[in-house]
Amino acid sequence: MNGPSGNYEPFWNEAVAQLRAELSEQEYHTWFSSMKYAGADDSEVRLCVPSTFYRDQIADRYRSKIEESLFELSGKPLRLAFEIRRTNGATAVHADDTPDERPLQRPAPPLKSPDRPPHPQLNDGYRFSRFVEGESNRFALNAAVAMAKNPGRAYNPCLIYGGVGLGKTHLLQAIGNEVYQEYRDLRVVYVTVEAFTEEFIQSIREKTGHRFKKRYRLADVLLIDDVQFLQGKTETQHELFHTFNALYDAGKQMVFSSDRPVTELKSLPDRLINRFERGLNIDLQPPDYETRIAILTQKVDENGVSVPPDVIEMICRNIESNVRDLEKALTKLIAYSTLVNRTITLDVASRELREFFPTPPTPVNISVDTIQRVTAEHYGLSINDLKGKKRTKTIAFPRQLAMYITRDLTELSVTEIGLEFGGRDHTTVIHACHRIAERKRSDSSLEPLINHLVHTITQRSR
Ligand code: ADP
Ligand code: MG
Repeated sequence: MNGPSGNYEPFWNEAVAQLRAELSEQEYHTWFSSMKYAGADDSEVRLCVPSTFYRDQIADRYRSKIEESLFELSGKPLRLAFEIRRTNGATAVHADDTPDERPLQRPAPPLKSPDRPPHPQLNDGYRFSRFVEGESNRFALNAAVAMAKNPGRAYNPCLIYGGVGLGKTHLLQAIGNEVYQEYRDLRVVYVTVEAFTEEFIQSIREKTGHRFKKRYRLADVLLIDDVQFLQGKTETQHELFHTFNALYDAGKQMVFSSDRPVTELKSLPDRLINRFERGLNIDLQPPDYETRIAILTQKVDENGVSVPPDVIEMICRNIESNVRDLEKALTKLIAYSTLVNRTITLDVASRELREFFPTPPTPVNISVDTIQRVTAEHYGLSINDLKGKKRTKTIAFPRQLAMYITRDLTELSVTEIGLEFGGRDHTTVIHACHRIAERKRSDSSLEPLINHLVHTITQRSR
């Protein structure tokens, strides 16, 4: 559309001269002696380079600096574009690999490389591949993937909202990482509203407003985390509003996150609310039980530790609202077992993780009936066997065990427990508890068995 308008070569020369001042002579020659200005229009400056290797290196090392200088010099957001041209002058279209660049040959399409060093503002670990999909996050995840594949096209702008620790930052950064790795020529900017505000204030103080504006308005993909913190920050709101408009008009991708829906963002001006509402708004729900299990199992695998399934289940039953707390609980457990050098058992876990659980992990409403039923079932007996008079070993031991567990899990007195077990005397209950405690010390298989029974009883009591 713009045709070969405006002569930008002087700007180019000046931008390179500025950069040259910062480089060693050798570095300058390595990268710039074989690069040529090849023309420009109002949106890009085209350069000739001898190979994809040069293009990738120059793009990685100098692109942002040069584009920033060009913007400052020309007042226009000019983007660098590269043509690969061999020394004989023929433009290489697809097979642009010359023999001398064999070590870096890549079969991938142009401007794409999977091995880029991490983006300075992004946590490289926040990838789609590490985000566990579930009913509660499927919509948000799929939208995020679509935006990363097609920035500026799929859903724009997009606001992802949901409570603390549900994966908003993970998704925003996964979009950033994906675009950054897959589209070398797109500029990805991630920032939290707090950081955005601080930078903005600093730019006013240091009179570097133009640099601040440029940084955000040159973004191809702008990811702004935690917009709820815009509340009460009038000047920052104003700045973001203008950034939004500039990027929106240019068709750039914007993704926001918030801990609440837009309608609940108080004290934001309507015009900004309207901007957020303009695109797709998706909520992240707390993960359901199955998703929590899948997430925690993945984290366990990633950590290369061994955590028994019943412990994973216990944690996921008790921590319901927040993935971050699931992670914290796991971290604490791993730290404990490493430091104390103990295997992670249900017992250890419920004791060490007490602080994470909103209510004690074993609910108080456990009935003697459930304890008797589960214990009897485990031994292939009936409840009446446990309550009855028979004192054969096969019945007496399970009966003592059930009494012991009842003492442990309920508030009942030994007298009450005796009554629940066929009207036995309280001394019988005390004796039973002693016997089991003793046996626990001599028989190492007893504790896991009790844990297993307690676990089943607890589950049945919910
Ligand atoms: P938010 O920004 O919503 O408060 P985060 O994105 O910081 O939450 O998520 C908290 C932690 O939980 C992060 O370590 C993140 O990797 C992890 N997390 C959240 N959801 C998932 C998921 N679906 N799969 C894997 N990890 C998750
Ligand atoms: Mg966050």
